[in-house]
Amino acid sequence: MSEKAKPSVWVFGDQLNVNIESLRGRSAEDCRVLFVESEHKILSKPWHTQRQHLIISAMSHFAAELVEAGYEVDYRRASSYEEGLRMHCEDFSVGEVVAMAPASWGGRKLLERLGVAMVPNNQFLCGEDDFAAWSQTRKNMRMEDFYRWQRKRLDVLMDGTQPEGGRWNFDAENRKPPPRDGRSWPALGRFPLDQTDHDVLQRLPNSWGSEPDGTWPVTRSQALERLEEFVAEGLPEFGAFEDAMLKDEWKLSHSCLSSSMNLGLLHPSEVIAAVANAYRNGTAPINSVEGYIRQVLGWREYVWGLYWMWMPGYLDSNFFEANQPIPPVFLGEAETEMVCVETAVRHLQETGYTHHIERLMVFGNLALTVGIEPQAMMDWMWSSFVDGAEWVMAPNVLGMALYADGGAMSSKPYASGGAYLNRMSDSCRNCAFDPKKRVGDDACPYTTLYWDFLDRHRDTLSSNHRLSLQYGNLSRLSDLESIRVRASEVRDRLRKGAL
Ligand SMILES: Cc1cc2nc3c(=O)[nH]c(=O)nc-3n(C[C@H](O)[C@H](O)[C@H](O)COP(=O)(O)OP(=O)(O)OC[C@H]3O[C@@H](n4cnc5c(N)ncnc54)[C@H](O)[C@@H]3O)c2cc1C
Ligand code: SF4
Repeated sequence: MSEKAKPSVWVFGDQLNVNIESLRGRSAEDCRVLFVESEHKILSKPWHTQRQHLIISAMSHFAAELVEAGYEVDYRRASSYEEGLRMHCEDFSVGEVVAMAPASWGGRKLLERLGVAMVPNNQFLCGEDDFAAWSQTRKNMRMEDFYRWQRKRLDVLMDGTQPEGGRWNFDAENRKPPPRDGRSWPALGRFPLDQTDHDVLQRLPNSWGSEPDGTWPVTRSQALERLEEFVAEGLPEFGAFEDAMLKDEWKLSHSCLSSSMNLGLLHPSEVIAAVANAYRNGTAPINSVEGYIRQVLGWREYVWGLYWMWMPGYLDSNFFEANQPIPPVFLGEAETEMVCVETAVRHLQETGYTHHIERLMVFGNLALTVGIEPQAMMDWMWSSFVDGAEWVMAPNVLGMALYADGGAMSSKPYASGGAYLNRMSDSCRNCAFDPKKRVGDDACPYTTLYWDFLDRHRDTLSSNHRLSLQYGNLSRLSDLESIRVRASEVRDRLRKGAL
C-alpha cells in the first residue's frame, strides 16, 4: 500500500483498545493512528484532577503502546478537535480519516461535520439498533426484562434455558446494611505512577481534588490486574454489601472497574466472563455473581440503549422545572453537619469516585428533593467522577436520580428520607441531625425535604400507584405547615452553604 493511500484512524480517549472496530483487522503497516488532546475539551469543565489525569494519561499510554507495536502515531496537542484534525491532515498526506463512532451524540455530529468516516461502536454487547429493535417489541422497557433478554440471547449465567442458581434475581440475599463487626474490606492495589503519568500531571491545568495516586488503571494491563484482584477478593461479598455505606470505607466490595470499561481498557464481555467463571469455579456465590452481572450486562447496557433512543432531546429534561444551583457543600466550598453528605463529598474529593448508592441516595436524592436543576447536576457529576461520560450520566442523573424525564426511565422517583440512609450507613449515628425527625432544628434535612417534595409535587405524583403508600402517609401528617417552613429554611441554608 502506498504511503499516500494509508488511512488515518482517529482514536478517542474512551476507545483505548486495539480491538476497537476502527483498528480491528488493521495492521501497523496499513494505517496511521491519530490522537487529539484538545485544549478546549480539557478546559470545558472544572474536572476533578484524577479524572482529567486518568483520560490524558491513559491516552498517552495507549499511544505509546501502539508506537511500541510499530504503528505510526500522531499524538496531537491542539486547541480543539477540529484544529488537531486540520493540522494532522496538513502534515500528512491523508487520504481518508476513519474513526469508531464516538460514545456521545455530540461526538458523532462533530465527525459528520468534519467528514470523518465512522464504523460502528463495538464497545457494548447490545448495539443501539439492537436495543431499539428490542424496545419496539415491548409494551414497557423494564430493565429487568432487558437484562433477562440479554442473559438468554448471549447465554450468560444460563443453565440451558434456565438461569443459573434457579432464579433470575438474588436481590433478597443482597443489599444488606453495613456489617458492624469492624471487618476489613478487600485491599485495592495501586499502580505506581510512571514518567508518563508525571508528565501529564505537570502539563494539565491545576484543578481540584486529591492528586492521582495510582488508584485508576491507565493501561489495559493495569485494568486486567484490577479485574483479577476484584474477582478474587471483592466479588465474593459484592452482592451482600452492594448498597451499604460506611464513613471510613469508600469502596467496600465494589469493583472500581467502571472507568476501565468506559475508557475501553476492558470490554464488558471479558469482565462478565471472568465473573461468571468465578461462579463455575466455586470461588464466588451466585448472589454476588448474578448481582454483578446484572450491573454490567443489565444496567450498563440498558443506559447505553436508552441514551441513544432518547437523544438529543433527553438532555433538556426537567419534569419538575427544578432550578436550584449546586450547593456549595457538593463543591467542597462549605462545610456541613450532615455526616452522610460530608462522607460522600470526602470520598469524591479523595478519589473522584463514590459507589452507586452514595451517587443515588446521598447526592441524587438531595438534589431531587431540594430541586437542583438537572442539567447543573449532570454537569457537576460529569466533571467530578472518574468514570463520567454523557451516555452514562444522562440516563443515570436525569432519569434515575432526578426523575427529570417524568418517569420515562424509572417508575417512581428515588426520593427518600433519613430512614433509608440510617439503615444503610453508619453516618446517622454520628450526625447532629435525627433521621426520624421532620421538623425542628435537629430534624434530618433528608426527612424534611422528602415530605416537602411529596407535598410540592402532589399534583403530578399522587396518581402514581407506586407512591400510594407514601401519599397515604403524607395525608395523615398533622405538621405539614411546619415541614414546609423547615424545608424552605433547609433549602436556603443549603444554598448559602450553612447547613
Ligand atoms: C446518579 C448516578 C450517576 C452515575 N454516573 C455514572 C457515571 O458517570 N459513569 C459510570 O460508569 N457509572 C455511573 N453510574 C452508575 C454506577 O454508579 C457506577 O457505574 C458505579 O458506581 C461505578 O463503580 P464500580 O465500578 O465500583 O461499580 P460496581 O458497583 O462494582 O458495579 C459494576 C459495574 O456495573 C456497571 N454499572 C452499574 N450500574 C450502572 C448504571 N446505573 N449505569 C451504568 N453502569 C452501571 C458499571 O460499569 C460498574 O463498573 C451512576 C449512577 C448514578 C445513580
Ligand atoms: S441524620 Fe440525616 S443528614 Fe445526618 S447522616 Fe443521617 S441522613 Fe444524613
